Amino acid sequence: MNSISQQLQTVQARIRQAARQADRPESAVALLAVSKTKPLTAIMEAYQAGQRQFGENYVQEAVQKVQELRQIPGFEQIEWHFIGPLQSNKTRLVAEHFAWVQSVERLKIAQRLNEQRPHHMGPLNVCLQVNISGESNKSGTTEAEVFELAAEVSRLPMLRLRGLMGIPEDTEDQARLQMQFAALARLFTQLQADYPSMDTLSMGMTNDLETAIACGSTLVRVGTALFGARDYKQD
Ligand SMILES: *Cc1c(COP(=O)(O)O)cnc(C)c1O
Repeated sequence: MNSISQQLQTVQARIRQAARQADRPESAVALLAVSKTKPLTAIMEAYQAGQRQFGENYVQEAVQKVQELRQIPGFEQIEWHFIGPLQSNKTRLVAEHFAWVQSVERLKIAQRLNEQRPHHMGPLNVCLQVNISGESNKSGTTEAEVFELAAEVSRLPMLRLRGLMGIPEDTEDQARLQMQFAALARLFTQLQADYPSMDTLSMGMTNDLETAIACGSTLVRVGTALFGARDYKQD
């Protein structure tokens, strides 16, 4: 099996290649390493190979990792992104331990994050999650609702509206994937005109990052290709 640092190089090469193919600068696409369910040692290995942005899905697990890593010298530059479903009773932990939340999908959650964000940490970076597949079991606002939510979030002083996040349907059908990514990219461009702080279009994972980059992604969230398959299925 390849080491995490080798897998990191492979993923970076995929990103570079996809950006080139789409006539976009390589620097236009950043990598978020999704470390959910993976041990601290995996995060440390990726960090030592140069990775700085990490994404987690489960509040309890994530906060434990954040706190443990803080005790170990040499990992100060890490930037934690919360990317999982967020219930209101967990917002305080997220506001206190993360630099970003990519999964904001309703105003009540945004308001709680805004109130609970410690002032000394500065504003929490926020992406609004849009349900681009339209499947009823998926998280995210509708495309129609996202404009209102963006307006509300942009008024909250301890949040900084940075962009949109979307997860497409789980399909191999490239045309369908492309349609869903393109829809999110279109919304992003429309919103950017009103909210210049929006610079992040978070879309693309292990199996579809090339398509996402072709459609304008600025941040791909990759787990499996970096850290291997996850033992238990939890998305
Ligand atoms: C788990 C997860 C990922 C990473 O998925 P892979 O297919 O393992 O790359 C990305 N985004 C979100 C929101 C996730 O929950």
